[in-house]
Amino acid sequence: MAQQMTATPTAPRRLMAEDLERVAPLIDGKVLPSASADQLETYDPSNGARLAAIPRGAAEDADRAVRAARASFDRRDWSKAPPGERKAVLLRWAELIAQNAVRLDALDALEMGKPVSLQVYNAMVAAGLVRFNAEAIDKVSGDVLSSDSLSTVIQTRGPRGVVAAIIPWNFPTYNSVLKIAPALAAGNSVVLKPSEFASQSAMMLGRLAHEAGLPPGVLNIVPGSGGTVGRALAEHMNVDMVTFTGSSDVGKLIMQYAGASNMKVVGAECGGKSPQIVFDDGIDPDVIAGYIARSIATNQGQVCSFGSRLLVQESLCDILVERISARLADIVAGDPQLSSTTYGPLVSSRQMQRVEKFLSQARTQGAEVVYGGRRILKETGGFFIEPTIVTNAGADSQIAREEIFGPVVAVLPFSDAEDAIRLANETSYGLAAYIWSTHAATGFRVANALQTAVTVVNADAVGSAGPGFAFSGEPAGLSGIGLEGGVAGLETYQRRQTMWFNHG
Ligand code: NAD
Repeated sequence: MAQQMTATPTAPRRLMAEDLERVAPLIDGKVLPSASADQLETYDPSNGARLAAIPRGAAEDADRAVRAARASFDRRDWSKAPPGERKAVLLRWAELIAQNAVRLDALDALEMGKPVSLQVYNAMVAAGLVRFNAEAIDKVSGDVLSSDSLSTVIQTRGPRGVVAAIIPWNFPTYNSVLKIAPALAAGNSVVLKPSEFASQSAMMLGRLAHEAGLPPGVLNIVPGSGGTVGRALAEHMNVDMVTFTGSSDVGKLIMQYAGASNMKVVGAECGGKSPQIVFDDGIDPDVIAGYIARSIATNQGQVCSFGSRLLVQESLCDILVERISARLADIVAGDPQLSSTTYGPLVSSRQMQRVEKFLSQARTQGAEVVYGGRRILKETGGFFIEPTIVTNAGADSQIAREEIFGPVVAVLPFSDAEDAIRLANETSYGLAAYIWSTHAATGFRVANALQTAVTVVNADAVGSAGPGFAFSGEPAGLSGIGLEGGVAGLETYQRRQTMWFNHG
């Protein structure tokens, strides 16, 4: 594996602490001080250096943002604006995101370590997602329901009202847009709470949205801690929907907060432990190894849909592990702001310790780390861990069952399709699955038997960012509830209302 810390950055120069956005509540179009003086420290994960102090936030910040959102919703200058006007604003926002993509990607790299070279879920893709939702505005309409000759029944779809969006740190720009764009397209007013590990790009996106002409109060951003600001939003009596992406543990809390307050609608996209299922039926192990190695290294395994359980037909196991290891040796680990880097640090020292703990537990339980598993680039002070392959981990072991959210795959051999289906479904999650087979019938049969939101046959999700705008599915188990992406995802931000006119 190549390691490097010096080369020419993609951005004109490497962003540093002095290049940061101001992180403070953006309420009613203005950046205001938090009601609390408490602060949180952020760190550059590529060298461990302190970056900035951001507000811890306060329930009062959340409340002010919700009030501004409600006032803007009631003003109807966005919620009831002609579809063409809303579309034009969102298209301008998409354009500004595209124009500023280099800086947005660099801010994410600086704060949480996603390499700027990574094309998947980057700022350009986020701009495309905004365009997708903008274009849908004047195409999503209601229905005329069947009725008798004495009545006309119509079903309208309107905005829900105030939507609170709470997001994780793993693709900060993309995750912000994945919530904001459909919620705004549906006519809602939004309060976004970015992750305390990565608020920079969210603040910039808010600034750009106002530059694009979004009326004040329609998009508000409240940075800060989850337990304070996130909780206050999810418990708020004047929020109509909370859309959450993050861990299953916090997802469960969000559902409790919603239930204990005003029964607001909840969307929760949570964790995963997705299987990659590889059949020894004529597939080319070199080609598959390339895909799988890429998926382990992508964003350092900090991808919710990452196939972290590698289910391989027994006869192919050794050769596939050997080929994946060979591919992993090609990654270039280093500063995520360098265009030549393909593999960055983990988001935080805590995340790095979490991965190390999983690996030491696995070794104690008899598993074998056959590739990687060590901390690298220690001299930089950064939070780097090699991509890692673990074998001999029982299907019941923690490493094979729990979400690690790091660059680790656990290899589990299977005998035949039935065995693969059994192992794949033996999980409390149900987010994604990947099947590799030369037989269409095997791919179809196995895909049909899995409990997931999305199953991909003979491709990896990394390559599917384009169609990703248009497809979506509902997760199973601890992976959450609801649906995100595509027109169906936009519709979750709308409330259907039926009107029955009796004219008999
Ligand atoms: P997290 O659950 O720790 O935090 C997510 C967000 O929730 C953050 O903004 C955090 O501040 C906030 N939060 C924390 N405690 C809260 C509380 N008590 N009340 C309200 N808000 C609270 O997750 P993370 O570490 O930021 O992200 C990693 C997780 O996100 C992984 O489990 C990953 O699988 C998941 N994820 C899922 C998807 C998906 O689409 N299913 C996508 C990306 C990430």
